[in-house]
Amino acid sequence: MYRNEDFDVIVVGSGISGSWVAKEFCDRGFKTLVVERGRMVKHIKDYPTANMDTWEFEHRNRATRAEIAANPVVGAHYAFNESTSHFYMQPGEQNYIQEKPFQWIRGYQVGGKSLLWARQTQRWSDYEFNSPKRFDYGVDWPIRYKDIERWYTHVEKFIGISGTRDGIDNMPDSEVVGAFEMNAVEKHIAASIRENYTDRQAIIGRCANLAELGEEQSRQGRTKCMARSMCERGCPFGGYFSSNASTLPHAEKTGNLTIVTDSVVDKVVYDEKAQRAVGVSVINTKDRSKRIYTAKVIFLNAATLNSNLILLNSRSESFPHGLGNTNGLLGKYITFHNYRGRLQAMMPGFEDKYYYGRRPTQVFIPAFKNIHTETASFRGSYLMALSARRDSWNKNVDNLGLGAAFKDALSEAGGWQVSLMMQGEVLPRLDNHVRLSDTKVDKYGIPQLITSVDYDQNDIAMMEDFFKEGTDMLTKAGCRDIVSLDQHEAFGRQPGLEVHDMGGVRMGNDPNTSLLNAYNQMHACKNVFVTDGACMISTGNQNPSLTFMALSARAADYAAALLKAGEL
Ligand SMILES: Cc1cc2nc3c(=O)[nH]c(=O)nc-3n(C[C@H](O)[C@H](O)[C@H](O)COP(=O)(O)OP(=O)(O)OC[C@H]3O[C@@H](n4cnc5c(N)ncnc54)[C@H](O)[C@@H]3O)c2cc1C
Repeated sequence: MYRNEDFDVIVVGSGISGSWVAKEFCDRGFKTLVVERGRMVKHIKDYPTANMDTWEFEHRNRATRAEIAANPVVGAHYAFNESTSHFYMQPGEQNYIQEKPFQWIRGYQVGGKSLLWARQTQRWSDYEFNSPKRFDYGVDWPIRYKDIERWYTHVEKFIGISGTRDGIDNMPDSEVVGAFEMNAVEKHIAASIRENYTDRQAIIGRCANLAELGEEQSRQGRTKCMARSMCERGCPFGGYFSSNASTLPHAEKTGNLTIVTDSVVDKVVYDEKAQRAVGVSVINTKDRSKRIYTAKVIFLNAATLNSNLILLNSRSESFPHGLGNTNGLLGKYITFHNYRGRLQAMMPGFEDKYYYGRRPTQVFIPAFKNIHTETASFRGSYLMALSARRDSWNKNVDNLGLGAAFKDALSEAGGWQVSLMMQGEVLPRLDNHVRLSDTKVDKYGIPQLITSVDYDQNDIAMMEDFFKEGTDMLTKAGCRDIVSLDQHEAFGRQPGLEVHDMGGVRMGNDPNTSLLNAYNQMHACKNVFVTDGACMISTGNQNPSLTFMALSARAADYAAALLKAGEL
């Protein structure tokens, strides 16, 4: 029926993972179509707020109460404000049902959330790949570090990562160019950790900002990070990795890339006779017209929950419960990162020290629990993100008085504040799931997604451990007034707000317990691949996007070889 394919490959979504798939196929000479539901965002030209100063915004770069009320989910997100709101999904675009509270953060435009992300990038190690087997949760990963190592290198060399080479077993070194520096208090805390502990250390956060300009990034027309810390508005210097500044323009130059925007994929089209997927059906967001694009291979990179949604909605005679869902596990084992725990403290004794400029990263303390030794109270692990600052630039100006007193108060540096935050592994659980509503549809007529995702006792035990360990570390370093904050209890912080949602279409060796093989290829429909966070079996404790990129490049390489051999 669908004989003449429009393209060799269709990639759904142009964000961090999809742009990597597109780049790899275009580099290998394949005609590649990227289908994107959002509008076009061209590098530099479409960053309207990138050079604006705070006083140029009508509300001094704060989201208004009306905006927050109109958009309660993203209104709670730390990066949502007057300068960035245009890169977040607009209200009413895609309603969903929170069976349990879940803050689903979306960025619908060319580039997806790669424009908004905080750029923290750490490799996984075999501790993470072995963890489900070692601690008996999820299923065993079908790959190990050796399978992905060269793909991390491949991605890092292209996107540009800053950081130091630290020789840590469970956070293998990245290919780095240049590094940002710790300030005086961070250096002091790092030294105290070195003196007092043998199982942990503090390192400057590895991130996809160009502390130095590498040759590859210069070739891409990008330049050094100016440490403006205005990244989420889009960077006119290309100082950080986004699809828009890096992978997509590179792919475009090959002449093999086509991007269609304003096109929501609602389904993968499955041909019963040929027993293969033949394309995707899309709805134009402007005029609601529908059409089908066809290709030999389809990659889903719509970000975790939308890739789940598309597959659940791709029902056919062979797959009445969603494409590839032969075991009923599609949409199950949704997981995320536990950001509940935060410690705040003051550090006396450094009043004669200051720092200049801004910095696009923090200090990281790689995981040390359930790594070399095992902890009885919880499974999985967590890392910590540390930062210290003087509070002069973040004062609440409402309470600073008037006139000369106001100016004096503004120019006073203030004491050193220290913040320590956890990023913990949330274990995959069968009951943490998404499914489709039978009764409610979104504005395009696509079934609404129901999210049923929550914390459990393991997350609370992990947070308690973080409070204990973090308090010990800060106390030993000389901090005072240490306060523990459960951000879920204190501010109603819900799962999803960390924007590290993963799972639902997990990889694995056994088709009875997983949906994708070791190369992200569907067990039950061989020409469909899923390489965004939906493929993840477990979350590790690291920020996830570097791993999504490495898995995407690896799977594209594998699929390209099969295509060339005529096997797809
Ligand atoms: C403020 C912020 C800070 C973050 N910080 C970090 C960090 O420091 N480190 C880290 O690793 N991660 C971070 N993340 C998470 C990171 O952004 C995501 O992990 C990453 O973008 C996921 O890549 P993706 O390709 O799966 O999705 P996205 O980048 O979101 O791209 C998905 C694309 O698919 C499109 N799409 C969706 N549905 C459809 C459809 N039905 N049809 C067609 N197109 C569709 C979307 O419009 C979008 O363009 C952060 C996120 C945010 C918002």
